[in-house]
Amino acid sequence: MNLFGGYSLTINGENVCSEKKLDVINPATEEIFATAPDASSDQLDSAVAAANIAFTTWKKTSLSERQELLRKAGELIQNHVDGLAELLTREQGRALNFAKAEVEEAIQVFFHYASMDIPTKITEDSETRRVSVHYEPLGVVGAIAPWNFPLTLSSWKIAPALLAGNTVVIKPSPFTPLCTLKIGELLKDVFPAGVLNVISGGDDLGPMMTAHPGFSKISFTGSTATGKRVMENCSKDLKRVTLELGGNDAAIIMPDVDVDKIVESVFFGAFYNSGQICVATKRLYVHADIYDKVMVSLVNLVKTVKVGNGLDEDTVLGPIQNKRQYQRVLSLIEDARVAGLTLIEGIAPKDKGYYVPLTLVDNPPSESRVVVEEAFGPVLPVIKFDNIDTLIEQVNDSVYGLAASIWSGDTEKAVAVANQLDTGTVWINENLYLPLSTPFAGRKQSGLGVENGEEGLLGFMAEKSIYIPK
Ligand code: NAD
Repeated sequence: MNLFGGYSLTINGENVCSEKKLDVINPATEEIFATAPDASSDQLDSAVAAANIAFTTWKKTSLSERQELLRKAGELIQNHVDGLAELLTREQGRALNFAKAEVEEAIQVFFHYASMDIPTKITEDSETRRVSVHYEPLGVVGAIAPWNFPLTLSSWKIAPALLAGNTVVIKPSPFTPLCTLKIGELLKDVFPAGVLNVISGGDDLGPMMTAHPGFSKISFTGSTATGKRVMENCSKDLKRVTLELGGNDAAIIMPDVDVDKIVESVFFGAFYNSGQICVATKRLYVHADIYDKVMVSLVNLVKTVKVGNGLDEDTVLGPIQNKRQYQRVLSLIEDARVAGLTLIEGIAPKDKGYYVPLTLVDNPPSESRVVVEEAFGPVLPVIKFDNIDTLIEQVNDSVYGLAASIWSGDTEKAVAVANQLDTGTVWINENLYLPLSTPFAGRKQSGLGVENGEEGLLGFMAEKSIYIPK
């Protein structure tokens, strides 16, 4: 298969072209390097119709049959790891070895769900009655993905939705459609026609999906602002909805840590993928006793970690993925500069590409934009604290509640802090680890519903309780 051209929609088991096209820009060069289909509303209708027809037979397949096909899907993608990784670097910007890690992770998602069972729960088995709860598929799932981890976040939706017995229409971000389109083409003959459909398009395609009556559920990952629009549209016919949204994750470094041991993990927790991770550390709180030492180490990393084109061998961190986000991050930095905050910047290419130098903001006030807003870029405010109780209140005083990390030599104390944080995930002395076996869920405006874990799988299903008197 040619991964570097001929991008098409996958509708009803066929490769389909579109009249209109989307330009796809390489963020490292700002050049248009490919065009992707821009699906029409008729093509969306065809995909949804095909998925609804396919659902009538797919939902009756056995669990083991669906597991087997998910395994085959993982094996097929495995034959294209290097090509997909290069394509991912070109469209997303990340360094090639990290792009490869994402392709491999997506494959593991298919294998993981291929080995998962669907439970039946017995809630009463008394002398007079047996009550059991069964889980059934919902219908057609509309999956909408962002541009920061196009393959991982798509596979987090496709694999559990299909295992549950649903059919899927997935829409990647218009900024990063290519790898997902190729996954559709690759898996076209693995699943029966109409079971997995992939459509790419411009800004109007997402709202058309959420308004479409043919979907039973929308599984969305993206920004909080868009998530609210998705929920509003889905409310009109009460579609089920899962929303994985933005965050403003805090990392807290207690005074009893070994700074040299943790600082690199803390750094990459904020700057990996150039900060474009929902669960990246977006505000770092460091105890006053060790603040200066932590800053020295962070400054050293900011000044030395290589930012560049993801295809260059020595690149560690790439550009911002798209111009809109690039301008947003630059405006946040400019705002901090105008406010007179102290910025420490690394080095990044200047001529072409959406590059932002890795940037630390030295002890900004807690109400600064750079502390309050989700940067989603390589900008990290580092804030001094001395009272953990006050800090916990400050960390919780956010509209977001996605994740947090605590770095401490005393696990018991760290757990006591973790218990008081209003987030769906808390890491102690690590970060960014999201195993598929464990539910991932945002609180407050970071989301609604769950991905991964048994809870995530059951989010693609409907309960049916059956009562049998004895
Ligand atoms: P975005 O909300 O702009 O777009 C996400 C997807 O929604 C894209 O496919 C887009 O085309 C589509 N879309 C746009 N408008 C829509 C509408 N009105 N209705 C339906 N779909 C629409 O987000 P983004 O800029 O692609 O991604 C960055 C954001 O995603 C960040 O805020 C980040 O924190 C968040 N994110 C969250 C998670 C998580 O799991 N919580 C993971 C990754 C990214």
